[in-house]
Amino acid sequence: MNSQDAIVIFSGGQDSTTCLYWALSNFHHVAALTFAYDQKHRCELDQSRVIARKANVPQKIISLDFMKELVSSELINQQKDNKKGTDNNNMPSTYVPMRNQLFLTLAYAWATTLQYSHIVIGVCETDYSGYYDCRDDFVKGFQAFTNLAYHLNFKIHTPLMHLSKGETFDLAEKVGCLDIVLEHSHSCYEGDRTQRHDWGYGCGLCAACQLRKRGWKEYCHNKENGKNG
Ligand code: ZN
Repeated sequence: MNSQDAIVIFSGGQDSTTCLYWALSNFHHVAALTFAYDQKHRCELDQSRVIARKANVPQKIISLDFMKELVSSELINQQKDNKKGTDNNNMPSTYVPMRNQLFLTLAYAWATTLQYSHIVIGVCETDYSGYYDCRDDFVKGFQAFTNLAYHLNFKIHTPLMHLSKGETFDLAEKVGCLDIVLEHSHSCYEGDRTQRHDWGYGCGLCAACQLRKRGWKEYCHNKENGKNG
């Protein structure tokens, strides 16, 4: 099995929206796999539907609501006081243990069914938050193990792995989705879509908004100085 078709793990955020359009310019067929796990910023899910429809990409939304029965994280639990809500005190409170491993496992399962050979995930170790499963080593290790264990030859693509947030905006422009990213993708942890900034919607204060805002500044700065390639 060696198709030129890809599944994109797609949340509706800036990174996975850029990956969705990157995949559309690199693969024959593209399908979006979205996970609903009662995440706090639920409007990300609504935005993912809007973007998949605009991109004309079939989307499957899978409920992982059981995650909150197993793990504690600020991203999926309502309480905000649980700052050390994970198995590791060095992790940010938004860390969800084993999340990307679970996502990739389910993407492998669906890819096997669809007979697609490529999986795209928007993880990035440049703006590293300390999440173990956003690292290149994690992705390479997962791919090597899973291919060996299941006699597969799938390839996991991580187009954002070594990009800064500013460079991710630049990539969005190159693959033709900058307007979609700004108007429709959602990153804000507080689920705020009432305030529109030049970098998109959000509260402007949470960690996700700060990162996006910094990235936009970097992108604009590089553009002014002719550094975006
Ligand atoms: Zn925010």
